[in-house]
Amino acid sequence: MTAAHKFPDMTPEETHNTPFFYKRLAEAFEKAKRHCAYDIESLGKLGEFDLFFCAPKKIDPAKKNILISGGFHGEEPAGSWGIVHFLETATAEELNSANLFFMPLVNPTGFNVNRRHNDWDEDPNQGFSGADGKKPSREGQILVDHLDRLLKAAADGFLTLHEDSDMKQSYLWTYEDASKPGPVTDGLLKVLGEHFPIFSGDMPNRGVVVDIKDGIGFNVFDNSFESMLVKLGVPYSATPETPAHPDMPIGERVRCQRDVIAAFVKLRK
Ligand SMILES: [Zn+2]
Repeated sequence: MTAAHKFPDMTPEETHNTPFFYKRLAEAFEKAKRHCAYDIESLGKLGEFDLFFCAPKKIDPAKKNILISGGFHGEEPAGSWGIVHFLETATAEELNSANLFFMPLVNPTGFNVNRRHNDWDEDPNQGFSGADGKKPSREGQILVDHLDRLLKAAADGFLTLHEDSDMKQSYLWTYEDASKPGPVTDGLLKVLGEHFPIFSGDMPNRGVVVDIKDGIGFNVFDNSFESMLVKLGVPYSATPETPAHPDMPIGERVRCQRDVIAAFVKLRK
């Protein structure tokens, strides 16, 4: 769908290095400034690292608001790097067709050591339902403390970039206010299929098994952050899962995540 953008394969030392990632993120926002200038703000500290929220300096009320996050799980780096790659390569139209807000790395302590959980052994994408007795992680509490702003940023859609470290195939979780998947889900699945084979079958998810039909887990409500946002009124949410099995090179996964971001913006603008 989009022209191939080069993103080089990185070494594991570069891939999982939070200070290096934040340096490259700052450079990417500097490059994107010619199309759209951003304010980069820390929502809170996790150990020595910040959890950043990035908002356009000029927010156009006539445009839709879309929130894009990466790195809830520290062993799933391609989403965060996909945001860097998107900022480095985005056209003026891609960056300006909606008000795009970013949380590029939610779990910087886990990312830094290639570990799913944070430094306190908490899963940053659990504890948001209130029903299962689990509490949000430190990261999750920071997000909850800023929930009004995040809901405004995600008013027209939330894209949360994940990977599956067991998989060599790709799939997608989506929420739409509909009884079956619509054009947003179909459009994102098409992009995943341009990069990887698509998974169908049983997928364990938080204590239950979900039937992933032709790559799609649809309207599966659980204790995730995205599930909470949808319950609070966000009309569309998508969670692409690129294949992060050790055999799968990081570069292709990052290019796929970059194309998913561009597609989501186009489908929701
Ligand atoms: Zn994940």
